[in-house]
Amino acid sequence: MDGERLSASLLELEDEINWDAAAMLERAVRLEREARALGDELLVARARLSQANLQMRAGDVAGAAQRIWKVHQWAVEHDARQLTARTHLVWANIHRHLGDAAQCLEHSVLSVELLDETATDHMRIWHRVKLGDALSISGSMDAARLRYRQAAELSVRLGRPDLLLAVLNNHAYAEFAAGHHDAAQRVAGRLQEVSRTYGFELDASLLDTIGAIQIGNGQHAEAEKTLIACIDQHNDGNQDDADALPEYLLTLSRAQRGLGAYGRAQRSLDASRRLCEERELGHVLVRVHQEQSELHAARGEFAEAYAAHKLFFAAHQRQHSLQREAQARTRQVMFETAEARQEAERFREQARRDPLTGLRNRRYLNELLPGLIATDPDLTVAIVDIDHFKRINDELSHDIGDQVLVQAAKLMETELAAIAPDGFVVRLGGEEFVLVLPETPVKHAVTQLDALRRTLKGFGWDALTAGIPVTVSIGVAGVPDAAKATQAAVLSIADRHLYAAKHGGRDRVVWSGSTRGRASAA
Ligand code: GH3
Ligand code: MG
Ligand code: MG
Repeated sequence: MDGERLSASLLELEDEINWDAAAMLERAVRLEREARALGDELLVARARLSQANLQMRAGDVAGAAQRIWKVHQWAVEHDARQLTARTHLVWANIHRHLGDAAQCLEHSVLSVELLDETATDHMRIWHRVKLGDALSISGSMDAARLRYRQAAELSVRLGRPDLLLAVLNNHAYAEFAAGHHDAAQRVAGRLQEVSRTYGFELDASLLDTIGAIQIGNGQHAEAEKTLIACIDQHNDGNQDDADALPEYLLTLSRAQRGLGAYGRAQRSLDASRRLCEERELGHVLVRVHQEQSELHAARGEFAEAYAAHKLFFAAHQRQHSLQREAQARTRQVMFETAEARQEAERFREQARRDPLTGLRNRRYLNELLPGLIATDPDLTVAIVDIDHFKRINDELSHDIGDQVLVQAAKLMETELAAIAPDGFVVRLGGEEFVLVLPETPVKHAVTQLDALRRTLKGFGWDALTAGIPVTVSIGVAGVPDAAKATQAAVLSIADRHLYAAKHGGRDRVVWSGSTRGRASAA
């Protein structure tokens, strides 16, 4: 498969809202393998994010948290905006699972802020819906409504009635969950109207939402009809999660209890309970016990109601502690991944420093300098070499030599900070250093570097070197000195000038403007 087709296949996973999580997870894993074969890092990252998303959907929030970290890091480092927007959306969902409404909101806001012209229609709509959801669970219902409205308008404008239904569903559910039953009813009405207009059959989960809203409004007969249609729809389809049907049966039972049809209610509830037990759906079973208690009470069977209530309470406690354990596990994973990242960051940083002086090293220079040279015509580079350094090693000791290097490094860093605040000092190796001076034209740099040379020479070295002087020779090159703006070209000119400084008698600065042999010598 080529990159373009792979990207299109990934988009199908990314821009999908009605998932069959297990099958799609398999597909995402296969697409990752193909992306690796192509050597395309962006496609790999996208495939991995899809996996994280599907893992979360399948209930493995800790696994999702672990996976998404690296993807997010990669996306940010490579300025992949669309991918970053998508990772924020998954983060938001993870935090919602953790019960952290504030973090959920923060990531949702970012997932919308990062939308740009590369975002898909699906993202433009869906990220706003999820922001609406985040706002509603944070208690900002007015702000949430604004986002649902924007998402609904966008769906209409972009000709996506399928997404419009999803927008209305989430909005209706948010109103319902926040206790605004009238508003929920209005949105549910719109949901039904839109589905009729576009000839869509409302899918089972939408019907379940509508039924629950009707129960909230005391319309139990309507609700029973809606739920029967919902279950028919479910039986025709079969794309739903394992807990879908027991949930629908439970809602149906509540509608029937409201009607006073206790026999029917009991049968619906028994069916739901059987499925919960078969499929080990503890989280639904809790509410089955609760509903059983209500049903007994409605029939005046108070002893049974109390027994069922005790079952409910025990199951509820157990479910609550399971949930807390899962949340703790996810937090642990997130913490450990963050730790590992900081560790890697520390390692990265260390690998770019010289252990003796603490200065940046050649590796750091090689990473940064080409970019700086390409973008800054006023960049100046200087190579600094200590004169007759061998004498210090030979006449004093290698250890004193080291101390001289450390002290010289300190002096250069301090001086350079005053000349070019964005500049840096590199130890190339031995007693050779490179100073990088951004936005400092070479002529101006030379004056300052000559002052640096004098400062080094004037330092009180006697305590360390017992009278042996410490001086440096400096070769300077500006980007305009080189025929080509490359690291090799600029450094080679600086190196030539350093050579000239050594031959001219050392302890001096040489640049392209120096008169041969008399360059700013002491
Ligand atoms: P010149 O003025 O021509 O630069 O003379 P020089 O003696 O400074 O140059 P040369 O390159 O001949 O000698 C550099 C010496 O630096 C040789 C090497 O033993 C010493 N050296 C290299 N790395 C270190 C180090 O990490 N510590 C110490 N103490 N000495 C080092
Ligand atoms: Mg030397
Ligand atoms: Mg040398």
